[in-house]
Amino acid sequence: MSSDFVIGWEEWVALPDLGLPAIKAKVDTGARTSALHASVIEPFGPADRPQVRFLIQPDPDNPGLEITCSAPVTDRRNVTSSNGETELRYVIAARLRVADRVWPIEVTLTDRSQMAYRMLLGRTAIGEAMVVDPNRSFIQPALSFEDYRDLPRRQPVRRPLRIALLTREPDNYSSLRLAEAARTRGHVLEMIDTSRCYMKIGGLASEVHYDGKVLPRYDAVIPRIGASITAYGLAVLRQFASTGAYCLNPADAIGASRDKLLAHQILSRAGVGMPMTAFANSPKDTRDLISLAGGAPVVVKLLESTQGRGVVLAETRKAAESIIDAFRGLNANFLVQEFVKEAGGADLRCFVVGSKVVGGMLRTAAEGEFRSNLHRGGAAKAVKLSKAERDVARTAARELGLSVAGVDILRSAQGPKVLEVNSSPGLQGIEGVTKQDIAGRIIEHLESRVRPLARQRDGAPRRTGAVQEADSSRTGT
Ligand code: ADP
Ligand code: MG
Repeated sequence: MSSDFVIGWEEWVALPDLGLPAIKAKVDTGARTSALHASVIEPFGPADRPQVRFLIQPDPDNPGLEITCSAPVTDRRNVTSSNGETELRYVIAARLRVADRVWPIEVTLTDRSQMAYRMLLGRTAIGEAMVVDPNRSFIQPALSFEDYRDLPRRQPVRRPLRIALLTREPDNYSSLRLAEAARTRGHVLEMIDTSRCYMKIGGLASEVHYDGKVLPRYDAVIPRIGASITAYGLAVLRQFASTGAYCLNPADAIGASRDKLLAHQILSRAGVGMPMTAFANSPKDTRDLISLAGGAPVVVKLLESTQGRGVVLAETRKAAESIIDAFRGLNANFLVQEFVKEAGGADLRCFVVGSKVVGGMLRTAAEGEFRSNLHRGGAAKAVKLSKAERDVARTAARELGLSVAGVDILRSAQGPKVLEVNSSPGLQGIEGVTKQDIAGRIIEHLESRVRPLARQRDGAPRRTGAVQEADSSRTGT
């Protein structure tokens, strides 16, 4: 029958749903089920929608090439392999491509990296109008492991992501919205209390521990680290990063944005407009400091202020001097800044995701107040941002290295002036005012950034099975 599709006992295949462009498979009609030889097989997700995450080394001769895959679990099944051992395996559904034919198959996952073939095609995967010629190999066109080279530049495949949200407030609006947006898009988001994470540093593999267990691997981490635990939170975040997780905002960038002085230096170097700012260590220079900021009125700010708490307006030089004296007496780090009066107690919050401004709001201070922080009784409303304002917001976020940021801008007579860049901007105000699904935009951005290439593991020992077993009870068949 000339219309038959003939395959040999070994063939090049692709698994497009898993993002695997080339794998050498052994065709074995003696076996019923097909198998993929995977490692670090970790189940995740709720019992009614189980998922599994695993690593594949498609090229047996190049263990440094390691791809992260994940897929919905369709079943768990006892499989007896050719060496007679029975093992309970995860079963996933994926499409198989050979030459120009694509068809759905079932694959079991098993950790046997010593196998010469990373895939075994069993009877059930062989289609109806298909014939296996056991005496020939590679009848169909060859593929190449070179196809993995341009993976970093290609748009990653849509797959269920395992996302960790680092927060101490799992029930607040922002956390709940991010979890919802992740779920809507087919991902699993787990809330992790940053302050409860602990770390083992110095071993071969990077580990984050929680409640007596090693945490599993995450595709991405969304840090929402409170100002009160910045230093520790950033250490936890760096640890997650070294396990190979993509961090929505990297630790260094968050650190820079939290330090008003460093942030201003970085932004100034990039030519971003900002209120004239002065800083000194010695009390001898207080008078000159006030002059450098343009003379009274000036704003005096604690370097680590949030929610407007450490921000004071000094109307006169005398008032400025006494505030500075008081801050010095408390050993506080502060800066002195030109007061942008024409802003009229209002500032703009520009919400940046990736390279776009996805929303903006105008915050106006309460009566008799110059600080527009919502925590200080400020009111927010929708606003149309000018091109200059959008540009300055995007530049500020980019220069600090933040892919999600709330950039606060004053409207001054000289154009937009950046006040600060917030690395964990709240979602409630901005979504309420703009009626936009900003949480969804953040998750969408993550999807485009999580790379399939797992870090080379450099012979690091396998992860312990403790977490896997604890989790697998949730993954019913
Ligand atoms: P925080 O981090 O505590 O929010 P900000 O620098 O954002 O500190 O200042 C809080 C608020 O005070 C701003 O949102 C703005 O309304 C007002 N403000 C701060 N600096 C100035 C300034 N130089 N001129 C005018 N208003 C300012
Ligand atoms: Mg602020």
